[in-house]
Amino acid sequence: MSKVVVLGAGVSALTSALLLLEKFPTEIEKLTILASEWPGDYHAHDFTSPWAGANWASFAKNDDLEQIKRDKVTYLRLTELAKDEPESGVKPYILKRCVPRSSEKPWYIEEKFVKNIKTLSEQELRFRNLDPELYYGYEFSSFTITPTVYNTYLLSKIRKLGGSVQRIPRLDLITDVVSTIGYVPELVVNATGVNAGKLLRCWEPEELERVHPVKGQILQIYEDLPYQVMVEELPEELNCRADQFLNIFPRAEGGCIVGGIFKKGDWSNTIDEKLNESILRVCRYHVPELKSATIYNTYVALRPAREGGVRIALSTYAIEDISRPLKVIHNYGIGGAGYQSSYGSAWEVCELAAEVLDTRKKWAKL
Ligand SMILES: Cc1cc2nc3c(=O)[nH]c(=O)nc-3n(C[C@H](O)[C@H](O)[C@H](O)COP(=O)(O)OP(=O)(O)OC[C@H]3O[C@@H](n4cnc5c(N)ncnc54)[C@H](O)[C@@H]3O)c2cc1C
Repeated sequence: MSKVVVLGAGVSALTSALLLLEKFPTEIEKLTILASEWPGDYHAHDFTSPWAGANWASFAKNDDLEQIKRDKVTYLRLTELAKDEPESGVKPYILKRCVPRSSEKPWYIEEKFVKNIKTLSEQELRFRNLDPELYYGYEFSSFTITPTVYNTYLLSKIRKLGGSVQRIPRLDLITDVVSTIGYVPELVVNATGVNAGKLLRCWEPEELERVHPVKGQILQIYEDLPYQVMVEELPEELNCRADQFLNIFPRAEGGCIVGGIFKKGDWSNTIDEKLNESILRVCRYHVPELKSATIYNTYVALRPAREGGVRIALSTYAIEDISRPLKVIHNYGIGGAGYQSSYGSAWEVCELAAEVLDTRKKWAKL
């Protein structure tokens, strides 16, 4: 029987904790989640999970088979949740996505993986002020996840399965888990998002460089929309910034979130008022259904990105004055895809955990 610590309480940590408890009921004696920020906390813009869109529209490149696998597993799980457990905060929506004609068809359309694929008509593109000579569009079944509802749901499932939780001040180094909890756990899962590089800096200074924020800025509006809309590589006429795009995701409880921007390397917590105006202008222009949209809140948050993509790997770290090293499975650096790949990533954490935990079961690989 093993003691497991999960460091972090964002969607990566909570999904990992839940799957570990479900898959290893006889191997895990105690699972404790340690984190500074929890579902329901809104004070930290570097605790990303409360601030996500959050929808499913895989960013995986057509040759990135590992990321495609993660996104596929999660799409299937979200399909089940939306159908069987709407209280989870997962709601099905059609996503209408418009991209330049020059862009590659994503894997999920190419493979016909997602449900209810249709091409958008030229008439609809014109209605959205997009030139059909330059843009094409498709729609398919996606989901909106209301982050805090969903993460609270995950947490309650974890508690039902016996997981315990503890709020702690921010740790300085990954090995500080040991002094915080008072013993050396058999396994630690490191799901500390954009701060993961700092915790590893003594052993892997390169992680400090690799892990970086990609700042987002969001408007929240009262008006509803019966589908999601995404427009990428915005046409020139509205003088948008190069890293700007349009994302509109309606929420189960009403209203929509409107984004946004991908601002790489910016750790700041400041709202750019000019950008707010631009996001609203773009929303009203390309989604005439929302031409009288009214904002009730705006915010910024940091996507926890990493050069080379998410790190899901097993490492060991020496602890001062203790002979046994700390075994750590990392699950950080997922950037703007933390919800849409959460189950696939957590499944990989479980595959690695099977190598550490005292298990005699055959582990079914994905
Ligand atoms: C504007 C915006 C829109 C987005 N839209 C989408 C979307 O549509 N779909 C999608 O899939 N994703 C989306 N994302 C991305 C998604 O939100 C993230 O990928 C995801 O939330 C990352 O979760 P995480 O658990 O890895 O990290 P976090 O949520 O940041 O959690 C990190 C956890 O670690 C803890 N922690 C960190 N450092 C320490 C420390 N030193 N000591 C103790 N605890 C620590 C924190 O307290 C926290 O509990 C969006 C993000 C943004 C900003």
